[in-house]
Amino acid sequence: MISIYTMCIDKLYNEYKEYALKHYKRHSLGSVHVAFIIKHKKIIAVAANKVGSRSNGSGYSAKSLHAEKAVVKALGDMSQLRGATLIVIRVMKGTQEINYSAPCHSCQCFLDKAQREWGLRRVIHS
Ligand SMILES: [Zn+2]
Repeated sequence: MISIYTMCIDKLYNEYKEYALKHYKRHSLGSVHVAFIIKHKKIIAVAANKVGSRSNGSGYSAKSLHAEKAVVKALGDMSQLRGATLIVIRVMKGTQEINYSAPCHSCQCFLDKAQREWGLRRVIHS
């Protein structure tokens, strides 16, 4: 059975999948995570991770900037996070398919904080 919540997620996901693909093409990277912050059905920030940041298994590298953090940085103003939705979509190299995207430990902590302290309403990973 599909819940209303799942339907909303699907709708959001389908809506922004196209956008993620366009962003991917512009960057011509390998596998890329593209993150969006959406508020009142408008994209208020978009960012992609830096090359190779999730390529070495554990998914964490101190040197790289992951999409989740990059998009908040791009937004600039934490107060804008209140009531917003953050979506992370992973686009695969070559096939440009959307793939499973899970936050690394560091980003999970960061996102928890964003929800707890800055009022980010929802986080969706592809
Ligand atoms: Zn991360």
